[in-house]
Amino acid sequence: MDCDAAPDRLTDSLGRALRDLRISVTDRCNFRCSYCMPKEVFDHRHAFLAHKELLSFEEITRLARVFVAQGVCKIRLTGGEPLLRKDLEHLVRMLSALRTPDCRAVDLTLTTNGSVLAKKAQALRDAGLSRIAVSVDAIDDTVFRRMNDVDFPVADVLEGIAAAQRAGFAPIKINMVVKRGTNDHQILPMVEHFRGSGVILRFIEFMDVGSTNGWRMDEVLPSADLIALINARYPLEALEPAAIGETAQRWRYRDGAGEIGVISSVTRAFCRDCTRLRLSTEGKVYLCLFAHQGHDLRTLLRSGCDDGHIASTIAQIWSHRSDRYSELRSSGQASRDSGVRRIEMHYIGG
Ligand code: SAM
Ligand code: SF4
Ligand code: SF4
Repeated sequence: MDCDAAPDRLTDSLGRALRDLRISVTDRCNFRCSYCMPKEVFDHRHAFLAHKELLSFEEITRLARVFVAQGVCKIRLTGGEPLLRKDLEHLVRMLSALRTPDCRAVDLTLTTNGSVLAKKAQALRDAGLSRIAVSVDAIDDTVFRRMNDVDFPVADVLEGIAAAQRAGFAPIKINMVVKRGTNDHQILPMVEHFRGSGVILRFIEFMDVGSTNGWRMDEVLPSADLIALINARYPLEALEPAAIGETAQRWRYRDGAGEIGVISSVTRAFCRDCTRLRLSTEGKVYLCLFAHQGHDLRTLLRSGCDDGHIASTIAQIWSHRSDRYSELRSSGQASRDSGVRRIEMHYIGG
């Protein structure tokens, strides 16, 4: 649906509408990508959330309904690895039944590492999901296994993508986080693999999210350099953004082999148009990926209050929002070393 056409129901203190809700359905994952859940930190001693702490599918759907009534028109399911949450297709079915105040379906999508997608693709499609993003950091099997750090083969993820294509998902997006010196030599092989296949490859700058991934600026490959590299081999032209607040800048191959995107979270902050709110697995909302603290909605949900009360709480939280971390970091007014622990990517889902 065209989110831009929907009326602004809630705006924050910088005039940004609430449009986009990211829901983390689990803090667990079967991969240990070093930029997200480094093995040394997320080992057997790490305490993941207990089942009773998680929002149930009914609680998630109830909150999502309240958010949609307040202007949210896009929902992304994420994690951790969302496909590890048992019976996720039931949640997909419940969310795909939601309608905006002007009676349109919500734009529902899911981000996955693809490890169990081959098994799940058809059930997800049948439940009403039509868009999907799969994270693939390398096409070379050795590099891929090193990136996920659990020795998972790339062939199984490619089989998941093929299953998603057969099930009729469109568009399918592939997300590649690029770390200079680790997988930047995989950029052209990834381009060559996915060009002309109909899927959209998107390159994400390695972000300084969380406090555990050992982020260093010299491991960030600026998107401008990446585009120059691809353009020298496969000439590109820029495309207009498809929607306000879109995180990716879009490009297309001049020879007609399709589209790619770059998400330049570090070198080109896009806070000005940030319409995203994040709901954690345990029911806290976060106003920014780089927030230190969330606002607890689970207690409200479980206290027996009505939807009107939840709606006014959300309105109050959003109306006070002034977060713009990436812009402040770019202008030297914020740094990751403030001494306060930030939320981790696997917990909030990107
Ligand atoms: N497990 C799923 C997956 O990997 O697609 C969903 C959750 S994952 C946290 C969501 C996205 O965040 C993935 O595309 C992942 O590559 C990206 N991501 C995680 N840590 C990142 C970081 N430090 N910088 C940039 N992107 C990151
Ligand atoms: Fe798991 Fe996704 Fe994080 Fe990798 S990026 S560790 S697959 S949650
Ligand atoms: Fe949005 Fe925060 Fe990212 Fe800026 S830094 S784009 S406000 S999530």
